[in-house]
Amino acid sequence: MSLQFSVLASGSTGNAFYLETEEHSFLVDAGLSGKAMDGLMERIGRKIDDVDGIFVTHEHSDHIKGLGVIARKYGLPVYANEKTWKAMENQIGKLDTGQKFLFPMESVKSFGGLDVESFGVSHDAAEPMFYVFHYQGRKLALMTDTGYVSDRMKGIIRSANVFVFESNHDVGMLQMGRYPWSIKRRILSDVGHVSNEDAALAMTDVIGDGTSRIYLAHLSQDNNMKELARMSVQQTLAAKGFVAGETFQLFDTDPKIPTPLCAV
Ligand SMILES: [Zn+2]
Ligand SMILES: [Zn+2]
Repeated sequence: MSLQFSVLASGSTGNAFYLETEEHSFLVDAGLSGKAMDGLMERIGRKIDDVDGIFVTHEHSDHIKGLGVIARKYGLPVYANEKTWKAMENQIGKLDTGQKFLFPMESVKSFGGLDVESFGVSHDAAEPMFYVFHYQGRKLALMTDTGYVSDRMKGIIRSANVFVFESNHDVGMLQMGRYPWSIKRRILSDVGHVSNEDAALAMTDVIGDGTSRIYLAHLSQDNNMKELARMSVQQTLAAKGFVAGETFQLFDTDPKIPTPLCAV
């Protein structure tokens, strides 16, 4: 009996996350086309048809691109907070009212023994929120798309066994890169995305004795590289006395390749 998960896809081209217990399975976001979502699930040996619902984080297209299509195709329940529902209504097409569920920010819903806890992040969307999953004493924290990591967020995700943690950009690459200043400013702002270094600094406040895995997620294709993200996070952690490879491991995520299904 365990909680298993896979980061199906992560990055600005599309995000999706899968988790399952003995009794239930869920997606968080569906930010790729319906066809791509089917393909990702096939790669981990699962079918969207068997999923019990989709938790939505926010209305940006890299999180909801395939949402309407697969929710209709497989008749799946969709969970989001009120402002996110309003903001994404025009983008996802029509869903049956019976498929639409409210998941308020900073609340908990239980599915069998699985407790799903939502918490707010700081990002330029209507009411962006991420999730922590609790199952049989194990804790899985999912958090990307936030401009910074507040003490409140840290308190909620602290001491998870597994973190999926945003490590969006290298500040130097972003500043030197080809993006217009307005976009650079947005990414660097308090409602943008977390840099490699800021991610690592936040991690030093939340890694616990039981933390075994950290997945670096939502890496920018233009302003980051897997090796750079890993090295930079590793270095910042090491400077604070947290040595990756000892009590916990660092992992990459990919825009197209799911991480292997793995127990929390
Ligand atoms: Zn976003
Ligand atoms: Zn995103």
